[in-house]
Amino acid sequence: VTEHTNSQQHLVSGWVEEFRPFSKNGQCANYIPALAEKNPLQLAISIVGPSNNEMKAGDTTELFTLQSVSKVVTFILACMDRGLPYVLERVDVEPTGDTFNSIIRLESHRPGKPFNPMINAGAITVSSMLSGISPQEKIEKILYFLEQMVGKKLKVNEEVFQSEWQTANRNRSLAYYLMDSGFLDCPVEEALEVYLKQCAIEVNVSDLAMIGLVIANDGYHPQLKTQLFPKQVAKLAKALMVTCGMYNASGKFSAFIGLPAKSGVSGAILAAVPSHASLNSPFPDGCGIGIYGPAIDSIGNSVAGVKLLKHLATEWDMNIF
Ligand code: GLN
Repeated sequence: VTEHTNSQQHLVSGWVEEFRPFSKNGQCANYIPALAEKNPLQLAISIVGPSNNEMKAGDTTELFTLQSVSKVVTFILACMDRGLPYVLERVDVEPTGDTFNSIIRLESHRPGKPFNPMINAGAITVSSMLSGISPQEKIEKILYFLEQMVGKKLKVNEEVFQSEWQTANRNRSLAYYLMDSGFLDCPVEEALEVYLKQCAIEVNVSDLAMIGLVIANDGYHPQLKTQLFPKQVAKLAKALMVTCGMYNASGKFSAFIGLPAKSGVSGAILAAVPSHASLNSPFPDGCGIGIYGPAIDSIGNSVAGVKLLKHLATEWDMNIF
């Protein structure tokens, strides 16, 4: 560990404390009862580079659920399972500008093909496509894929899953609508079970940063020295993160931060920083970033998390553009 790294680590810890109070401008997702009980003032970050170099600060031992961050992972898996043409026939790659759980375009744009895999309609469609004979088998596949990336066992948080399963009226409507227009590959309740369980997979910020690192590296896992998914799929996933990853704030996020990122209503943010976008940072070979700050804004993004990421990206000159 160089002195340079030490001083940067010190700065990162300071930034977490500087931005933590901004959580007061948001609140924990209250439409999912199990998330509403989280401590809104928590904030944590992990930044991981390809030589296993990590900087982390804040509440880094805290566990939280992936929520919408899982949409990137299942999209990648579906592309591997079914091939790109099959997936793209059932879900488009256009941003919507609508909220993540919006239903309006399914009816207004016949034949109701979901606009992109980063909104709920698209993600439920993607989950229905995964190969496997039962929801359980599909979830095990998702877990195994993630476990390869993070290097440890992961599990679904049953309490969060149950909490969402019992209150999933909006997601049920989306799924039934999709079924009616022929976009689901399996029964509605099965697609929903996979989708809501993938959302309830539990991680910490270091795990999240590892997933970001593999995506940043175009699917290549630097420690396993294995290509976990094709480069072409990784590029597409990053493009979707840039255009749709931060819900209907994706335009502003790209304009003012400029990194492929995906958020979840748990307050998670995953960012993938390719090497070409971080030449002047303490991670010149690229990095994955995991952030957790459960107080979210009205769009669904972590308030303190976005501020922290923006500051870090600016200070370290990390921007894909
Ligand atoms: N499970 C959540 C939902 O479907 C995920 C949404 C999110 O993180 N934006 O509502």
